Amino acid sequence: RKEQLQLLASVEAVTKDGVHLRLAGNISSVKDLKLALKHGAEGVGLFRTEFLYMDRSTFPEEEEQYKVYRQVAETAGAHPVVIRTLDIGGDKQLEYFSLPEEDNPFLGYRAIRISLDRKEMFITQLTAILRASAHGKVKIMYPMISSVEEVREANQLLEEAKRGLHERGIAYDSDIQVGIMIEVPAAAAIADLLAAEADFFSIGTNDLVQYVLAVDRMNEKIAHMYNPYHPAVLRALRQTVLAAKEAGIPVSVCGEMAGDEKAIPIWNYLGVVDLSMSPQSLLRVKHRILNTTAKESQEIGARCYCLSTSAEIESELAIFTESGN
Ligand code: PEP
Ligand code: MG
Repeated sequence: RKEQLQLLASVEAVTKDGVHLRLAGNISSVKDLKLALKHGAEGVGLFRTEFLYMDRSTFPEEEEQYKVYRQVAETAGAHPVVIRTLDIGGDKQLEYFSLPEEDNPFLGYRAIRISLDRKEMFITQLTAILRASAHGKVKIMYPMISSVEEVREANQLLEEAKRGLHERGIAYDSDIQVGIMIEVPAAAAIADLLAAEADFFSIGTNDLVQYVLAVDRMNEKIAHMYNPYHPAVLRALRQTVLAAKEAGIPVSVCGEMAGDEKAIPIWNYLGVVDLSMSPQSLLRVKHRILNTTAKESQEIGARCYCLSTSAEIESELAIFTESGN
């Protein structure tokens, strides 16, 4: 079965009626990227850079980061690589950077909030990413965006990083695309406003589900309530996708939901064609897409949007998973 799936690596993920879904990999290292490419990933939809900052005693310097980003960009070749800026805080800690003790770390000092506070650290990272953009199809993505101001402020620092490189005479892609993660309910709610500020959206369902439902994604006790198929989550997804389409910018999904075959009817219905997932999920999801008729799958997705409970939505989606269509 594993060998059979591996045969699909070089096949594109196209439904029986011709809808092409671009499957990309979520990675944290060059090793992950190699596995993603082996499984036929059409690029990297999410490079989680926090792992470069972990298990060490100081912040990584520009040169060290640049080398890793460049290696990823070069290894991906002609495929796009979306590099997400540092997303620490919440569940992710750094030994050498003491984050405050917080009652609600997931609602606290994390991700872009830290980057905008520790500007020199952020500019170092942006500079390293920009340098790598001279060696591949690199894009930048900001995590945990919850307002238009944050995007503008981050972009100002990006401009500063560009100026710095220009002064040093170092090459970078001056047209580098800059996207944002939609993973906070506020971002979904103002997706139309954010779409005017970003080149693309990537929906982070892991956090979006926890914040929309107010269910801590790490808390075992309420794990049964952590359900991506809650009608509120589906609405947030639709609102985000519609806003992106209205503004004419691409929208992808990079949370765990993207790697769940059961969600395919939702993507078909919403018209989402870019999914980024863990390298281990790629072949399984592709196999399912190859056995899907988008038209029928879309209809299942559409019906999900008329249902009132997660249980009803999941049993509608079970029609899809059990049908082979
Ligand atoms: C997400 O929140 O869905 C996401 C992809 O980011 P992370 O899991 O790294 O928070
Ligand atoms: Mg997240």
